[in-house]
Amino acid sequence: MKRSRLGSPSSYLDISMIDHFAEHFPTIAHLCEKAGVDIHQGRIPVSPGAHFLMGGIDVTHEGQTTLPGLYAIGEAARTGVHGANRIASHSLLEAITFAQAMAEKIIVEDDFPMFPDLFVSLKPAVLKLPAKHDIQQMMFKYAGIWRSEKTLKHVIKWCESWGIDFADCANLDITKAAAERLDMLTVAWLIATSALDRTESRGGHMRIDYPNEEEIWRQKSIIREVSKVEQY
Ligand SMILES: Cc1cc2nc3c(=O)[nH]c(=O)nc-3n(C[C@H](O)[C@H](O)[C@H](O)COP(=O)(O)OP(=O)(O)OC[C@H]3O[C@@H](n4cnc5c(N)ncnc54)[C@H](O)[C@@H]3O)c2cc1C
Repeated sequence: MKRSRLGSPSSYLDISMIDHFAEHFPTIAHLCEKAGVDIHQGRIPVSPGAHFLMGGIDVTHEGQTTLPGLYAIGEAARTGVHGANRIASHSLLEAITFAQAMAEKIIVEDDFPMFPDLFVSLKPAVLKLPAKHDIQQMMFKYAGIWRSEKTLKHVIKWCESWGIDFADCANLDITKAAAERLDMLTVAWLIATSALDRTESRGGHMRIDYPNEEEIWRQKSIIREVSKVEQY
């Protein structure tokens, strides 16, 4: 059996019944050609991908974070409007709606972000960080569609093995490339620790060891604040 990039058996989308596929779907046809996939075989290999993120930076209905002057909207924000999963096309609606509310607030209150302290207090640092691809693989395999206590603890242990203090890594003077990997590792750790705490399955969060929705978790969110983040 043919193996995909992620090592699992490949699944295929049957396109054999679509006449003139390349004319109807030129972008997909071009991507297939670039990837060496012959669409004339009538099937395209497919694999699951991260479509969106549930959760994010906790904000008000105007996109205001707990840091005065700092706003988050769109994919980065946790507005609460999606519940435990998203309905198709609500992501863009959310981004536009909250962007409008945020812009009106900033204009009315003249509340432009100013963070002088952040820039004078940067601490020089040399970090040992995993490659971007390794973080993606780790999250896909062990915190992806199905999670369990065992797989989540594996991710957490791996994230913590890099010796980063996730509660105190915001003010480091590092390169842009390192900052991206540090942010990815921090988000991976936050997702894994929160998913471990949430001992139920709900919406997009599926636990093999807790397959049902639990009443005790209904309408509950897990919110982590820097002052309260502890290593697991
Ligand atoms: C495959 C797929 C299909 C989707 N389909 C739909 C759909 O049909 N309907 C729907 O409503 N939603 C859909 N979504 C979700 C929707 O696309 C996202 O929720 C939306 O794009 C989020 O917008 P955003 O501006 O918040 O973030 P993004 O679109 O992710 O934009 C963030 C931008 O910031 C840039 N950036 C990142 N880091 C830095 C940095 N350090 N400095 C400067 N720039 C930086 C990035 O390059 C990027 O351009 C889909 C998502 C995916 C992945």
